Amino acid sequence: MEPVRIGIIGGSGVYQMEALENVKEVWLDTPFGVPSDAYIVGTLGGQRVAFLPRHGRGHRIMPGELNSRANIWGFKMLGVERLISISACGSLKEEYAPGHIVIPDQLFDRTRGRPLSFFGNGIVVHISFAEPFCPELSRALYEAVQETGATVHLGGTFITIEGPRFSTKAESHIFRQWGADIIGMTAVPEAQLAREAEICYATMAHVTDYDVWHETEKSVTVEMVVQQLLKNTEITKQAIQRVIPKLTDPRTCQCGNALQNAIITDPKYIPPAVKTRLGLLLDKYLK
Ligand SMILES: [Zn+2]
Repeated sequence: MEPVRIGIIGGSGVYQMEALENVKEVWLDTPFGVPSDAYIVGTLGGQRVAFLPRHGRGHRIMPGELNSRANIWGFKMLGVERLISISACGSLKEEYAPGHIVIPDQLFDRTRGRPLSFFGNGIVVHISFAEPFCPELSRALYEAVQETGATVHLGGTFITIEGPRFSTKAESHIFRQWGADIIGMTAVPEAQLAREAEICYATMAHVTDYDVWHETEKSVTVEMVVQQLLKNTEITKQAIQRVIPKLTDPRTCQCGNALQNAIITDPKYIPPAVKTRLGLLLDKYLK
């Protein structure tokens, strides 16, 4: 199959990408198990694109159950270099109102017990993650959302909680004091796995609610989130259609070399079975 260079992972409310043409379903199996669903591979604006609904069609998989390693590995198998994440989020900041889009530039991890790396079992890898999102792809997304006329904010700290429940008021106030701007349940470990896979990763986080800290708003409920989702997904889909035709140039960011100085294990001690299993990531450095 012809390589697919652009991936889209759709979150709550985004289970399909109608703009894709000539689509076919691609079911993949990975060394980490089976992804959330089939990848929908098609063309958009002249580019080959793979779409995956993060929670599966019908929204069947909760955040803590996601097999993010399989999801990201599958994109890598297809040849994806740039991955656009669409994610619903709550706002922890007055200025980031429901209906706005945030392109975050920082992450804060409050998940528990999720597998966070492709490595281990005889190979140790420490990626740089000071800048967890690809600045180049983030900028492109920002400009695309601006073109739709929606309100978009470039930058913000995205706190990822374990869920599946929403926050308590105490948690929400503390997250605000920590300086977090938006809150969601899936950016970790997706962003760091994409970095390990040397895939550019950026997020279009659409604000569905003010979480529970806001005194004048009702506390978040699923109904509230779904209502706002329907309005927001239209904006994110329009932005996708604008950005994809522009993502044609070779990457100039550092994401594509993330493993270059990150593998600390002496290659002669890496078990052959591990080298084989992770060949998709390691071959370019160990051969
Ligand atoms: Zn990048």
